[in-house]
Formats: sequence, C-alpha cells, structure tokens
Amino acid sequence: MKRCTDCAEETKAEASRCPHCGTRLARLHRGVEGRAMLGVCAMLAREFGIDVAWVRVLLVVATMFTGGTLPFVYVLLWAFTPPSSVGRAPLQRTMDWLSRLGQSSDVSHLERRV
Ligand SMILES: [Zn+2]
Repeated sequence: MKRCTDCAEETKAEASRCPHCGTRLARLHRGVEGRAMLGVCAMLAREFGIDVAWVRVLLVVATMFTGGTLPFVYVLLWAFTPPSSVGRAPLQRTMDWLSRLGQSSDVSHLERRV
C-alpha cells in the first residue's frame, strides 16, 4: 500500500491513479507485469484498468480497421514511454546519443558522462 500524494488516502501500490481523487500516482511506463512484446499493451491495460488480453484484442481489431495506422501509434507509444518508472524513453536515449555524436569533437563530453 502507498499513500496518495494529493488526498492522503491509502491506495494499492501498483495503482497508477488514486481511486479516491484521480491523481496520477505513477509515471506512465512499460515496466509492468504481463508484458509480451514491448510492454505497450500491458502499460495501456494498467493505465485503463482493464485486462491486457482485451488491449491485445482491441489492438488487433483496430489494426484490421485502420490498416497500418495503429502499429505506427504503437511504435510511437513505445518511443515516448520509459521501460520502467525510473528509466528513460527510447526517444530520449536516442536524442541523448545524437547530441553526444554532435559533440564528439568536444572533449568535455567525457567529463559530463561521469
Ligand atoms: Zn487521492
């Protein structure tokens, strides 16, 4: 159990939102149980409080109807969400990597990494 930061009510430790006041308690991230592929389905299931099987069914059905848009959204969701509550999103890591490449002639980037 943990305490809501807003209304101080007790909440389940894995809850991403306070059931009493709706305050977001955890960052959206993919470090959740039940992940199969990139963890996007499991993350959405936790976020909306539904079973991960339903998210996968919806994803497959929606893919058939939208034809190619949804896998793109799936990848976007993956790119923008960190792998765990303390991790960094793949997009953030790519941006960091790119900015380091741009500074490769600069010696000071070695110091900043430590
Ligand atoms: Zn609350």
